[in-house]
Amino acid sequence: MKLANVDGRAVIVTASDRGFDVARTSGGRFGPDLASVYDDWERFRAWAEKSPTGREVSFTRAQLSSPSPTPRQIVAIGLNYSEHASESGFEAPDRLPPLFTKFVSAVTGPDTEVMIPSGGHVDWEVELVAVIGRTGFRIAENEAWSFVAGLTIGQDLSERITQLTGQAPQFSLGKSFPGFAPVGPWLVTPDSLPDRDDLRLGCAIDSRTVQDGRTRDMIFPVARIVSELSRTITLYPGDLIFTGTPSGVGVARNPQRFLEHGEELVSWIEGIGEMRQTFVATEVCGSG
Ligand code: ZN
Repeated sequence: MKLANVDGRAVIVTASDRGFDVARTSGGRFGPDLASVYDDWERFRAWAEKSPTGREVSFTRAQLSSPSPTPRQIVAIGLNYSEHASESGFEAPDRLPPLFTKFVSAVTGPDTEVMIPSGGHVDWEVELVAVIGRTGFRIAENEAWSFVAGLTIGQDLSERITQLTGQAPQFSLGKSFPGFAPVGPWLVTPDSLPDRDDLRLGCAIDSRTVQDGRTRDMIFPVARIVSELSRTITLYPGDLIFTGTPSGVGVARNPQRFLEHGEELVSWIEGIGEMRQTFVATEVCGSG
């Protein structure tokens, strides 16, 4: 099942431009907003499995927002692919990799225009994002997938100067400028994917591929991340976990390369779909 956020309403996607409005089709039992669907995820899944019928609604890409627009928490994992760890100058972590948050104010839908902070070095990090579907604390690894509502695409956009300057780096700030956490285009339940632990993912700038990896190369796969995180924090329905990026980021290139005014970044994951970000220099915004 694919679940989209269309103008703030949960929609079960049946084609790229239409689906069932959850609140209307369920007679008000679930929805209309996404957060209430995650809060009642197990009963919603049981209902949705009986293939809702009725009139479908149509939508355009411009109406799509993040499949979890107001998560209580966002956890992002660093250095979770060994090639990315080595291009960043670190050894692959054997304990839980470094983690940080992207503040909720940075979350947007899948197709957006993103402002480049003045003088900023904005970098790309395509990531598989897990959306939590059940409250959990101290979750066993072999039960962890049952706490995941589904998977979606995220871009962990990062302004490297803010992120890396200073004695104690500012990961959470550098990754939380407005629009720096696009998520979408929709949530896909793990059972709808050919292999939830092995998905090809990548991104391209103006059609030139810059990242192309597979989630099977994660050092800590989704189930292990959920289990390890829940040793310390309670996970809530709708929470987002950015699971780390494969190699190919701009800061690790020689010479370094960052996103520029007018460039388009397309991010994709096999079986889920794609997102599109266009970048705009701050000086240009508001002029004319
Ligand atoms: Zn990242």
